[in-house]
Amino acid sequence: MKRLRIYLLAITLLSLAAGHFLFSEKRSDEIESIRAILPDVKFSEKKDNPSYFRSEEGLVAFNTYDIVPSIRGYAGPIKTLVVLTPEGRIAGIKILDHKETKNYIHYMETPQYLSQFTGKSVNDLFEVDKDIDGITRATVSVEALAKTLKESSRNIASNVLGLEVLIEGKKTPSGYGWLIYSLLFCFAFVFYYVTRRSEKMLRIRDISMIAGILIIGLYLSSPFSILHIFNILLLRPSSSLLWYAIIITTILSIMLAGRFYCGWLCPFGALSEFIGRLPFRKWSIPSEMDDKWRNLKYLLLGSIIFIVLFSRRAEFGNYETYVTLFSFHGNYLTWTLAGISLLANIRIERFWCRYLCPVAALTGLFSRKDSGYVSRNDCPMANKINPHISECIRCNRCYLKS
Ligand code: SF4
Repeated sequence: MKRLRIYLLAITLLSLAAGHFLFSEKRSDEIESIRAILPDVKFSEKKDNPSYFRSEEGLVAFNTYDIVPSIRGYAGPIKTLVVLTPEGRIAGIKILDHKETKNYIHYMETPQYLSQFTGKSVNDLFEVDKDIDGITRATVSVEALAKTLKESSRNIASNVLGLEVLIEGKKTPSGYGWLIYSLLFCFAFVFYYVTRRSEKMLRIRDISMIAGILIIGLYLSSPFSILHIFNILLLRPSSSLLWYAIIITTILSIMLAGRFYCGWLCPFGALSEFIGRLPFRKWSIPSEMDDKWRNLKYLLLGSIIFIVLFSRRAEFGNYETYVTLFSFHGNYLTWTLAGISLLANIRIERFWCRYLCPVAALTGLFSRKDSGYVSRNDCPMANKINPHISECIRCNRCYLKS
């Protein structure tokens, strides 16, 4: 483990340094575009995560590509500069860059067409042929532009302006998400320590896991992700209190209780474990093979550290199944991975957590030794007797009180 930590640290530092020198962002186009939209308003330096500029009047400007890079037209993302009022209305937009075929979309770039977005509320429909004009033979590009503007504006309105916004017909959680998350963490953490003393209370972990699925997964849509760490390393802290609550509680729990988050709060881990409890016989994986496959998650972690920090693009590391599942947003590949990872639990205990999860690799790497954990037959991670602490999710079933 010690050697692995040193390798990952070296990869992290080298990729960070190389990425910094090779891919520093150009911001001049954005500043010029803001001036073109609102020549008389002065904006601050660009802030990061989410990336935006703010004026003294409370207007916020951002490049949609920083917020929703995965929304694509025919030939890639349509990078657009948007200015939002403090009330969540679009004050103006300017298309910065795209790779769509000009012949088809020339009208989409005209001021006449773009002016229909000015004054729209972030909670408007943004649907082509309803509140957005369609353009014959450019449907894909127009839909991509509308979706880009809708999702990026709602993201900024919620995370920067603190407004309530609609997500697929639902309202986002209010500004108390950080408090709800912290209370749930405290509840789980208290019972983590209680169950180390009393086996009778072990069922409480099921309640904590169900709360993890309902609150962290479905309500807040904010499972801890390796992207949180990348954004810290790339010096892009968020302005959201929930973001800080997730980072602080997770780091604290790793220091005090290793992979506690995986065993008590992670919504994907909980879902995996509940599926694994269905009455199907589990495959018996030979111990040597199991050990080798468990190392795969460290290899994946090292690879995405290199890719993300070298390219300085956090979204390149987004293969995490819980992000896809609980954001209800992904591509064919990530949805397939999420589906396979859930179904696999029928035959292999906590398949994703054992073999692929980058958060499992990270939290495992920093788990401190605790010889009280000896494992037993019904270990949810199918750990061997006297397991390595990096594979223990602290369910406390086997904890020996000294
Ligand atoms: S080793 Fe023990 S505490 Fe750790 S996951 Fe397995 S049964 Fe739970």
